[in-house]
Amino acid sequence: MLIQRAMTLDGAAVDLRVGARIDDVADTLTPRRGEDVYDAAGGTVLPGLHDHHVHLHSAAAAATSIRVGPPQVRDRAALTGVLASTEPGDDGWIRAVGYHDSVAGPLDRAALDAMVPAVPLRIQHRSGVLWMLNSAGLARVGLAGHPDGRLRSADSWSDALNRNQTNLAHLSDRLSRYGITGITDATPDLDVSDIVRLTELHRQGELRQHVHCLAPGKRILHDDDLDLEQLSEWIADRHRYDGPVAIHCVTAAQLLVTIAALRQAGTHPRDRIEHAAVAPSDCLTELADLAVTVVTQPNFVAERGDQYLDEVPAAEHERLWRLASLLRANVRVALSTDMPFGRPDPWAAMRAAVHRTTPSGAVLGNDERVSARTALTMFFGLPEQPTRARTLQPGEPGDLCVLSVPPETALAELDAGMVAATVIGGEIAYAAG
Ligand SMILES: [Zn+2]
Repeated sequence: MLIQRAMTLDGAAVDLRVGARIDDVADTLTPRRGEDVYDAAGGTVLPGLHDHHVHLHSAAAAATSIRVGPPQVRDRAALTGVLASTEPGDDGWIRAVGYHDSVAGPLDRAALDAMVPAVPLRIQHRSGVLWMLNSAGLARVGLAGHPDGRLRSADSWSDALNRNQTNLAHLSDRLSRYGITGITDATPDLDVSDIVRLTELHRQGELRQHVHCLAPGKRILHDDDLDLEQLSEWIADRHRYDGPVAIHCVTAAQLLVTIAALRQAGTHPRDRIEHAAVAPSDCLTELADLAVTVVTQPNFVAERGDQYLDEVPAAEHERLWRLASLLRANVRVALSTDMPFGRPDPWAAMRAAVHRTTPSGAVLGNDERVSARTALTMFFGLPEQPTRARTLQPGEPGDLCVLSVPPETALAELDAGMVAATVIGGEIAYAAG
């Protein structure tokens, strides 16, 4: 297809001929017979956005789940009320997501049985790495004898759940409207059949975006169970077969152990640290030395910033969701949303990176702000090299995002409403009506 009358971020007027790759870029190109033509009408053309850390199945499932955390649900009475008034889905489950201990403390099966005695119930913690099931739910997944009903993602129980019910096509349309042309699924417990199925769905066109999966190199850490030797052995074992690792670090302890383990095991060029939500300042040079890629989510500042300001001691605020200080220290960084645990709009994540504004309007991490152009470019990376930004040169993937506005407006606003068309592999995946 041919895209005419577009503008690059640098303000140059261009036409682009696009297939699976960008074939040609010039001031003007003449349409060939039978070629589809899209008129960008002076709008900005960008490489398509790649969200470097999402959870596809959870996101599709979240569409049929109720939210049981702040701000919708803030206390035990509200939690009990919302669970009591929810009908189970077609599969018999009540699914709830977004739980945080500030609502009613750590929940176990007894507490859940008191609220929902008969219907299988599963509540996912906001962190995405802990589920709480009532007795009926435990019986359903074959764990009737489980002591407290608190299950982690690494446990095999989730295999017992049918992943096929989730509607990925609908989710894919939504991502296309944001200009997203590729995603990296960071779910640790995807098995080979899940990954094959995602590839299949992409081939059939149901899932338009290119999909890259981190499993089986993805690993979640838990603070009460940090084992340097075991982690470094696992890393070395992955590297032995040329497999990179992606390690989930949301606390300072998890980051410190991961850095030590990477020092001990050595690094692979594609190793990643997910989140780096809390990074003490002495970690910065270490992360740069290791040349490991940090894939982070500034959108959590915009979504949960006020809670951080309340709960985290002021002296530690500078450690939270760092961005500019990582770049100044020459750490490799890419952005993502962590959908559905973070909101899926990459433009909101970019605005958070630029403004660092919490929901109440406070600023968290003034020194961590980056320019609009930097924030945008951190969504241009290749799936396997998140910090190698794609460009509009011939030979680059034929995945583009066309905006309705010129570059200066695009950078000033960073708004999803500007997306006019999304092109994936030389085909229109979305065009604003
Ligand atoms: Zn995640």
